[in-house]
Order: sequence, then C-alpha cells, then structure tokens
Amino acid sequence: MSYDPDNIFAKILKGEIPCHKIYEDENSFAFMDVMPQGEGHALVIPKLPSENLLTADADSLSELIKVVQKVAQAALEAFQADGVLVQQFNNPAAGQTVFHTHFHVVPRFEGVALQPHNGDMADGELLASNAAKYRALLET
Ligand code: 5GP
Repeated sequence: MSYDPDNIFAKILKGEIPCHKIYEDENSFAFMDVMPQGEGHALVIPKLPSENLLTADADSLSELIKVVQKVAQAALEAFQADGVLVQQFNNPAAGQTVFHTHFHVVPRFEGVALQPHNGDMADGELLASNAAKYRALLET
C-alpha cells in the first residue's frame, strides 16, 4: 500500500476540508471524529505522511503518543468520563478505513455502549461544542 496524499486526513491537514480542531503542534494534529463512536470521540494524527502505525516514522510516533496522552487526559476531564478508550487500526483487515496514521480517543461512561465504527454523522453544533471543551483544556 502506498500513501495517498489526497486521503481525507491529508486534506484536513492541508486545510482543504474543514474539521473541528482541538489541538495542534509542530508534529501532531487532533480533531473531532465526524462519525463518533461515543460523545467526545477525537482523532490524533501525525503531520508526517504515513499509512498507519506499521509504516510511521518512529520519532514522529514518539511525539504523537504524548499528544494522545494529553488528549486522553483532557477527554476524561472535559466529558467527566469514567474511562477513555484509545484504539488504532492497521490495514483494512484490522478495520482501518482512512489511510493516514491515527489514534482514536473515545471517552467511555459506565453502562453506555460504544456506537458502531463508521456509524452516523454527528450534529455539527455538537461537534463544535465538544471541540471547544477539549480546546479549553488543551490550549496553553
Ligand atoms: P479508521 O477506520 O481508519 O480507524 O478510522 C477512521 C475514522 O475517521 C472513523 O472513525 C471515521 O468516523 C472518521 N472520519 C472519516 N471521514 C472523516 C472526515 O471527513 N472527518 C473527520 N473528522 N473524521 C472522519
């Protein structure tokens, strides 16, 4: 598999399509998932192009995981969650649908089931409001 520079997350990074951004630094970018599996579902991606974890630059991944941790901590606090799911898929057989490396960060609540992967589009206003909750904790 080769990296498609026009994949949806590459387009988000280039500003060619909109997203609800929650965090950005030199190496990493984070934004709301438009088809969330739960309230506050966020995605954390490296700026360097790679299809997935298997082919990503190791130094970039080292920086990325620090951002995954920050976003997971913010998820717990912003949504008053009981836990946080961090998941990551590699290749179609593992469930990957967008071929730019990404980590899912999903706040979890006791007794609330996870929605299906690639389910329904969320309301734009709700995504904007959830992104603002993250930014309030992640902006320095
Ligand atoms: P994967 O299946 O590759 O692990 O996850 C891809 C994720 O990207 C899915 O959870 C899906 O909801 C999300 N997604 C797909 N298209 C878009 C989009 O255009 N914008 C945003 N923000 N998320 C997307």
